[in-house]
Amino acid sequence: MAEDAFAKWHGLDRKKINWGPVIDPDKCTGCGLCVITCGEKRNVFGFDVDKNKAVVMFQDRCMTGCNNCQVGCLWNAISFETNAEYIRGIAKTIPQEQITKELKAKLEANPDLVID
Ligand code: SF4
Ligand code: SF4
Repeated sequence: MAEDAFAKWHGLDRKKINWGPVIDPDKCTGCGLCVITCGEKRNVFGFDVDKNKAVVMFQDRCMTGCNNCQVGCLWNAISFETNAEYIRGIAKTIPQEQITKELKAKLEANPDLVID
């Protein structure tokens, strides 16, 4: 995978955005659900077979604003330092021109999404 595949979030520097899971190893049962939940392109988690624990390996690959793994962890072992309000505050700084440009490109690539 290209090293900078997730370097930007809608034009913003991803490394300046504090968003990514943290695992409490005392709560993690090693069920593995988070490892298989996180999309294969991102693969934020690895798995320590000896300790039978999931491990956050690439926190800054986490999709900004996603918390699927936290919701799915039955053992409440996953947390985030920030929350949706924090992300909304950052989202407000995305220039509208950037969003419009990305929207245009997405609709051109997915004409079935266009309702006219
Ligand atoms: S879903 Fe939760 S309990 Fe299961 S491996 Fe991940 S962190 Fe551990
Ligand atoms: S929040 Fe989403 S992208 Fe981030 S680690 Fe969890 S499942 Fe993967």
